[in-house]
Amino acid sequence: MPSENLLAGLLIPRPLPHHTRYSPTFDMDAVVAGNARLTDAQFLELYHHAPLTDLGRWAFAVASRLHPEDYRTYVIDRNINYTNICTARCTFCAFKRNDPNAPDAYTLPYAEIYRKIAELSAIGGTQILMQGGMNPDIPVDYYENLLRGIREKFPHIHIHAFSPPEFVEFSRFFNLPVAEILRRFKDCGLATVPGGGGEIFADRVRSRIGPGKCTGDAWLDVMSEAHKLGMYTSATMLIGHIETIDDRLDHLARIRRRQDWALANAPANYTAFIHWTYQPDNTPLDRKRKWNPDAGIPFEFDDGRTVRLADANEYLRMLALARLYLDNIANLQSSWVTMGPKIGQLALFFGANDMGSVMMEENVVSSAGTTYKLSQEMICRLIRDAGWVPAQRNQYYQVLARHDGPDSPDLKPPAPGVFARRQHHITPEEAAAYKKIPLTISAGVRHRVGADSA
Ligand code: SF4
Repeated sequence: MPSENLLAGLLIPRPLPHHTRYSPTFDMDAVVAGNARLTDAQFLELYHHAPLTDLGRWAFAVASRLHPEDYRTYVIDRNINYTNICTARCTFCAFKRNDPNAPDAYTLPYAEIYRKIAELSAIGGTQILMQGGMNPDIPVDYYENLLRGIREKFPHIHIHAFSPPEFVEFSRFFNLPVAEILRRFKDCGLATVPGGGGEIFADRVRSRIGPGKCTGDAWLDVMSEAHKLGMYTSATMLIGHIETIDDRLDHLARIRRRQDWALANAPANYTAFIHWTYQPDNTPLDRKRKWNPDAGIPFEFDDGRTVRLADANEYLRMLALARLYLDNIANLQSSWVTMGPKIGQLALFFGANDMGSVMMEENVVSSAGTTYKLSQEMICRLIRDAGWVPAQRNQYYQVLARHDGPDSPDLKPPAPGVFARRQHHITPEEAAAYKKIPLTISAGVRHRVGADSA
């Protein structure tokens, strides 16, 4: 006999059971074939009524149309978080330190960043994703000299760095327009801009989860400036916190409109969309009450007092809907970092065509308690077992190596005594050691990190 709670749960509009096929009220075949664009109302209709299996079937068909190749891709990169000192106070973040004197606050010296890149290069990595907190004590020279230094020492490494919120704060810190900073950084070696800090654009959500961080429109403006300068970027979305489905749709709609503009007017655009789920451990937002799906009350925005965590079903539904809605963005990444390798693999059947990156290092998501790690061998294995040839790509989604021979990373036997590499996290001891290293920015300017700041 169903419990009272379960009966109450039936009051919530839910998609049909999975053995039932949903017939949309519009021409879904035209959407799947690329002959019609999914409207906002149609997006909501599918979200509220279509079973996950139908969404997956349609999204898989779209992904297969856009990517008919026999391979699926991944990239080898390293996340380098050059500082964890940040003026923002994002309530979903367990990584930042507001106080530069905190024992584990750090800013990496150049030598440490170069050492990390050398390690990446040694395992065949092709790019760095470098992002930090928004640290007002770092001058513009630090960034320009760093970019030049990386380009000189590692000309083969693609620099994918600095999210839109960082650029907005750089503009304030350096008293320079965003477009000029982008141009100067590009001249120094910055190639593309990652989509970090997108979260949810709607002000009512953003102002509550990301105080001290730029608005959604400012985020989009930075990316449009980058596109005007010929720099490709990516778009992101964070789900599973205080946002509603309307907020997610608004987010996707703004990205789609900006991408329409970029494709028509700019030499570059968004190459990919990636969404991931809020990871609650060690974050202030985790102290909010959690929505109970069985209480009979639909999830609604209540000034951000209630959190609705996203499970695998919710993640995959949004992935499939993003594939159907973002008809002008070529690539969707699987977020195995937050969802784990198994759901990450399954994502290839729900609209994703890329497994993201083999990350040598990750400090942000792992600070919030999620520590999935995959080696190149494991990512290749997941792609192959799902039915595709694994292929290493670059940031422009060009294939660098197809792994279809016996010497593929996942097929060749490991050398005797070789074990899977572990990811590296910055430990409190290392953060303390970094503080002791004087950091030379440029002639005449010296900057010490953390507690030793001058
Ligand atoms: S998410 Fe980024 S911007 Fe927000 S507090 Fe953390 S480091 Fe700062």
